[in-house]
Amino acid sequence: MKHEIALISPIHATGMAELNDKYCVHRVWEAPDPKAFMASIADRIEVAVTSGLRGMKAWEMDALPRLKLLASFGVGYDGIDIAAAKQRGIIVTNTPDVLNECVADTTWTLILSTVRRTVFNDRFVRAGRWPTGPAPLSDKVWGENLGIIGLGRIGRAIARRSTGFGMQVGYYGRKEQKDVPFQYFPDPVALAAWAKILVVACPGGKETEKIVNEKVLHAMGRDAYLVNISRGSTVDEPALISALQSGAIGGAGLDVFVDEPRVPEELFQLDNVVLQPHVGSGTHATRAAMASLVTDNVAAWFAGKPLPSPV
Ligand code: NAP
Repeated sequence: MKHEIALISPIHATGMAELNDKYCVHRVWEAPDPKAFMASIADRIEVAVTSGLRGMKAWEMDALPRLKLLASFGVGYDGIDIAAAKQRGIIVTNTPDVLNECVADTTWTLILSTVRRTVFNDRFVRAGRWPTGPAPLSDKVWGENLGIIGLGRIGRAIARRSTGFGMQVGYYGRKEQKDVPFQYFPDPVALAAWAKILVVACPGGKETEKIVNEKVLHAMGRDAYLVNISRGSTVDEPALISALQSGAIGGAGLDVFVDEPRVPEELFQLDNVVLQPHVGSGTHATRAAMASLVTDNVAAWFAGKPLPSPV
């Protein structure tokens, strides 16, 4: 007989296929009344799968009182009430490392397309404006100071790519990291004042909420650029919008937003922003690798083996 699992939200297709193949899957997100649905399966569910963005709230954990493992698709787990999981003895797993390189590629796509105005220039050509005169010049990327808030697995992959661009790297985090050749800044304002391009790559959640605030934006200045691939919560969005509108900063490349999938309409009017629909890890290969790690965690749990990637 197949083990039963609760799927709180859909994950990548390859993961869904494997879960459907191996287990009896209860699709919570499709239930008209998820609470009642969870109550109807609660006595059989020890394993649930969710995504980092959908997460799992404390009341949902209460609705599945026998839950032992929550396997999450994605590295960020700010959507999961980790304290509540701990309290209830629920082990949480995520999907670190397998997405580092693609998220770093996305970051660099945003750095280059924002600073070199690639998307603006594409619109310029399509609108037939080229014959009326040359496109405005852009700022440069190579040789500049790259500041990273959160030099973790992804931050380091972003930093590695800067070598080819002859850049200096500085970073901010809660502590200095002795094994990197980069300059440590003990506060984000000092890093922002130094950096020409400031990348946010730390986790979301309460601790980092609005880590990029008005002060940080002010310290960046008119010729500096912000790239956010972390979570929308790390940036004070209204302050960013007004800094972009007034030209207080040069521009921004954004993969993440406070209220996804809703994006503030003020951003649509601005030529100095590049917007992405949270696709940092969104390649076929990486999403499949993330899905594999989810199913590996679930399989390990049912087999009583050590979990590949507990939080
Ligand atoms: P990680 O290896 O845990 O690195 C996180 C870094 O942030 C660490 O260097 C840590 O340094 C720093 N940090 C943690 N808390 C902080 C705080 N309160 N203040 C300042 N810095 C702090 O995580 P990762 O795997 O690189 O992932 C980072 C984040 O990227 C994820 O949590 C997720 O939100 C985001 N992400 C986005 C996408 C996307 O599609 N856009 C995809 C994947 C991940 P210290 O410990 O020294 O502070």
